[in-house]
Amino acid sequence: MARSYYDDNFGHYDDMDDPDNVEFYRETQRTNVRKKCQGCKRMVSIQPRYAYCNSCADKRERGDDLYCDDGDDQGENDGEE
Ligand SMILES: [Zn+2]
Repeated sequence: MARSYYDDNFGHYDDMDDPDNVEFYRETQRTNVRKKCQGCKRMVSIQPRYAYCNSCADKRERGDDLYCDDGDDQGENDGEE
């Protein structure tokens, strides 16, 4: 069965044979909020402390300066508090 695990915080999940990963995914889904991504302006489901969806965070990490209105340091998807 090709169930795909995806969310807007982290993108696609791997290793979902591991119950810990499934539990983490579910917990993330449960605590997501609907908000507008500061990068692509889409409505996404992300953690309250994040400002950017997964694809925008990727672009920012790669240094693509597509979204350079750096008013704050929110939205780096590296798990910081
Ligand atoms: Zn985005």
